[in-house]
Amino acid sequence: MSTKFEFAPMPDDTGHFGSYGGSMVPPPLEKAIAEVTIAYESIRQDPAFRKELHTLYKHYVGRPSPIFFAKRLSDAIGGAKIYLKREDLNHTGAHKINHAIGEALLAKYMGKKKVVAETGAGQHGVAMATACALVGIECEIHMGQIDIEKEAPNVTRMKVLGCKVVPVTFGTRTLKDAVDSAFEAYLADPENQLYAIGSVVGPHPFPMMVRDFQQIIGEEARDQFQEMEGRLPDYVMACVGGGSNAIGLFTAFLNDPKVNIVGVEPAGKGLDTSEHAATMTLGKPGAIHGFKCYVLQDEEGEPLPVHSIASGLDYPGVGPQHSYLKDIGRVEYQSATDQECLDAFMTLSRKEGIIPALESAHAVAYAMKLAKQLSPEQSILVNLSGRGDKDLDFVVEKLGL
Ligand SMILES: *Cc1c(COP(=O)(O)O)cnc(C)c1O
Repeated sequence: MSTKFEFAPMPDDTGHFGSYGGSMVPPPLEKAIAEVTIAYESIRQDPAFRKELHTLYKHYVGRPSPIFFAKRLSDAIGGAKIYLKREDLNHTGAHKINHAIGEALLAKYMGKKKVVAETGAGQHGVAMATACALVGIECEIHMGQIDIEKEAPNVTRMKVLGCKVVPVTFGTRTLKDAVDSAFEAYLADPENQLYAIGSVVGPHPFPMMVRDFQQIIGEEARDQFQEMEGRLPDYVMACVGGGSNAIGLFTAFLNDPKVNIVGVEPAGKGLDTSEHAATMTLGKPGAIHGFKCYVLQDEEGEPLPVHSIASGLDYPGVGPQHSYLKDIGRVEYQSATDQECLDAFMTLSRKEGIIPALESAHAVAYAMKLAKQLSPEQSILVNLSGRGDKDLDFVVEKLGL
């Protein structure tokens, strides 16, 4: 038993979490990515880097983010007590700023002039543009033309922050081709640029690096909860897209065998339809974007189209560490539908005056479902990964409010 929960530092030297992860990139990228790994391995131990990062977490992001006991919500459900880790209160309104600052600082320490990245709905783009403005480094974000038209406010934010937004007009003109476009731009000048991924996905060292930068969520939460309640929560949970906010919370609890850990995936219109993004629940081991993980794929191993009401969760792959944690049974992966997500969005807003991001509302939805089956002595800690301002127009239209 004890050995099962003694987690060795992960990943291994080759960037693998069990059989997942690794780095399978075209030869021209191999050298550039290997350079990032070497630089990060030395910088992550550098006291000056760690001090600068933690100073910015405190004085810029506003960390530590509080934990809030959602009493009216818990009472309304009538089961376990639900607590919220308030990542929505961070500067820019979500957890992404934690790794964006880490990546921008890394670029600075590596002596790079520019950060290059892609974005889907624009959340990673805005977080990177913010961090680059803060650190004083150029930022170039590749975004599909269709997404640019859909997400105008985020495009405006990036421009105001001094970031160059590159429209991607080939292929699907969405995230999938924005990834290729950003990779190409990075390869044109890896000497002066750093490629910055927006979740715990992609080739090694990104899943490790982004996890390290998000780990602060769980470190704080574990101490805060213990101080509030004199014990650890019975359950911790978070929504899983690529899995960065989830692994950020989970890491601090992996060696606490009494703490149940749950990742919540988007079940979209239902697991029995083809319109979902429940990668761990219905996918199979495979490869995507240069690494191995669970993938929603067709017979040929091509990634399937995915759907979620929360654009930050619709990805057909998932972080390699999550894939590993599922296989060894340390983390349980569940799902919530679009409808359950909308219900949780409205319930949390009206019971607590907290409007969650649609992504985060998936975790709240599953917590509400689970709480009913537990007793009032038990507790669930939910990572509220972001605030819902960005989703208001969509929800109002959808529900006809
Ligand atoms: C991007 C995003 C997510 C999903 O990303 P993960 O890497 O799975 O955490 C979740 N919540 C919010 C608010 C986001 O912006």
